Amino acid sequence: MAMAHHAHPSDQAPPTPGPRQQALLTVLRESDAELSGQELHERLKQGSQRHGLATVYRNLRLLQRSGLVRCRKLPNGESVYAPLERDDHHLTCVSCGYSEPLPICPVGTGGLGLSKVLLQGFKPLFHTFEIHGLCRSCQQSEPLAHG
Ligand SMILES: [Zn+2]
Ligand SMILES: [Zn+2]
Repeated sequence: MAMAHHAHPSDQAPPTPGPRQQALLTVLRESDAELSGQELHERLKQGSQRHGLATVYRNLRLLQRSGLVRCRKLPNGESVYAPLERDDHHLTCVSCGYSEPLPICPVGTGGLGLSKVLLQGFKPLFHTFEIHGLCRSCQQSEPLAHG
């Protein structure tokens, strides 16, 4: 879901993504799941272009800055990436790392409209929203410690 892109005339047009950034975007869009930098690097190896891992991360940062890619951090500290238009949110298990997508975006564009005053000119590109906890199977196998 596209967030409110408030294009002001004074805004500089984001730079057109280069071929390597386009290749990254294509892989992200073709994937159903979010991908880590390492996974992107692996998939791009099958293509004709050479993408070093450092280049992949640098281009991911540039794509984020251009408002084309979103990222979130998994409980293990790894960052995973998705196209900006994919407004997915997850229930994430802190025990096994299982991540289940929520069927809807609980924040919504209305939520961002509300905080416009708080944004004070900040230009939002994407948001993250996650619920961390214990999945069903972890609740059964690891009952919460006493006290
Ligand atoms: Zn779990
Ligand atoms: Zn959302």
